[in-house]
Amino acid sequence: MFSGLRWRLLLSYLTVMAAILSIFGAGVYVFFSRSLYNQLDKKLRTLAQAATPSFTQVEAQGRKYVNQVDIVPWRDIFNYDSQSLEWFDDRERLLAKRGIIALESPPELGFRTFTKPKTGIPVRTLTISVFTDSSLDRPEGFIRASQSLEEIYTIKQQLFWVLIFGGMSTLILIGFGGFWLSQKAIEPIEKSFSRLRQFTADASHELRGPITAIKASVDVMQCHPERIHPKDAKKLTAISSATTQMGQLIEDLLFLARADNSEDIPTRKRTKIALNKILQDLVVLLEPIANEKNIIFRYQLRPDVYIFGDCSQLNRLFSNLVENALQYTPSGGIVNVSLSKQNRFALVSVEDTGIGIASEQLPCVFDRFWRADKARTRREGGTGLGLSIANAIAQSHGGKISVTSQINEGSCFQVRIPVLGHNLGHRD
Ligand code: ADP
Repeated sequence: MFSGLRWRLLLSYLTVMAAILSIFGAGVYVFFSRSLYNQLDKKLRTLAQAATPSFTQVEAQGRKYVNQVDIVPWRDIFNYDSQSLEWFDDRERLLAKRGIIALESPPELGFRTFTKPKTGIPVRTLTISVFTDSSLDRPEGFIRASQSLEEIYTIKQQLFWVLIFGGMSTLILIGFGGFWLSQKAIEPIEKSFSRLRQFTADASHELRGPITAIKASVDVMQCHPERIHPKDAKKLTAISSATTQMGQLIEDLLFLARADNSEDIPTRKRTKIALNKILQDLVVLLEPIANEKNIIFRYQLRPDVYIFGDCSQLNRLFSNLVENALQYTPSGGIVNVSLSKQNRFALVSVEDTGIGIASEQLPCVFDRFWRADKARTRREGGTGLGLSIANAIAQSHGGKISVTSQINEGSCFQVRIPVLGHNLGHRD
């Protein structure tokens, strides 16, 4: 029960951490990419501005001037392998060029990014206008500074993989830490739950003795009615019925407390059982009640369905379901009990045309002491634990109970238990 909770807790913890790490990683990636582009743009601006004063010489000497490595003013900030500088006249004709980047397009003012230029390498460019004579209102030419984006792309790719691997390793570490933390968080809950379970089992066990003593004393007194004052006879009957009910409640609580324990409900009394036999006996036993209530009681029981189980527990499971069906079906209604085989499972259906259960209440039907209508009188002899016990018995036989119901239309409880050969004899 708690291992499922532990894994769910760990999974939610990991999901939250993964979401936080993804947001953080994406933020870091975007921030660094932007700052790389900003740095590049600054570099291009500096380069273009450094090349501006040379425009007149380039106009006069062309390539000869730009190839003079020692005298050009941009020599210290220019990288021949990844950058290029181009000078254009006012008609956008190329005057001179330095660097290996080849762009065929004419200069366009401002920053541009070419993803597929001639060389195949993505390139970022900055084109600025050159004004050497301030009296002129149009530029005398243009300078275009370009830089390959290859380096930035490589850095971005490296950053991407560092973030992915870093994030994954962090998640794995968080997973280990989270497992330990969820274990620590659940430990006290597990302890208090097991203390509560132990308390219920001990209390029920301790109460058994006094209740049996009271019941025995009342029975003895009732065996000698002549010794009882007529006024006390009714009181004694009430005490007897209350102790019977209390005894039943204690037995039920003890049964559930044992079922909750990992040791499980004892399985030593298990044998090969013909389910139709159990159901047949039950039908015979409960038919008078159906007749008394004027309920049509039908049954279709397939004979060859065998399971491995505890006869008295299975008897209890099915009698709880059938007694409920009879209890919550008004006069003139129908209760149908059927036994069939579906693949590797025995399928027992107890269907009625009774008052039904509202769909929003269906998830609670197997909760302890749950009743659809708190004001409704309980089934005679019922403790409010009938369905919880039925559920625990089905689970202990490797099966489960499901319920479908519609208010004022009826209910259908279906029990699935693995047939012999597939029954593992333990709970889910
Ligand atoms: P009890 O019958 O002693 O109250 P159960 O655990 O057997 O306790 O049933 C719990 C509640 O489920 C019942 O009080 C009733 O409200 C509802 N219930 C069970 N079976 C049926 C049924 N066949 N039709 C309608 N309601 C049902």
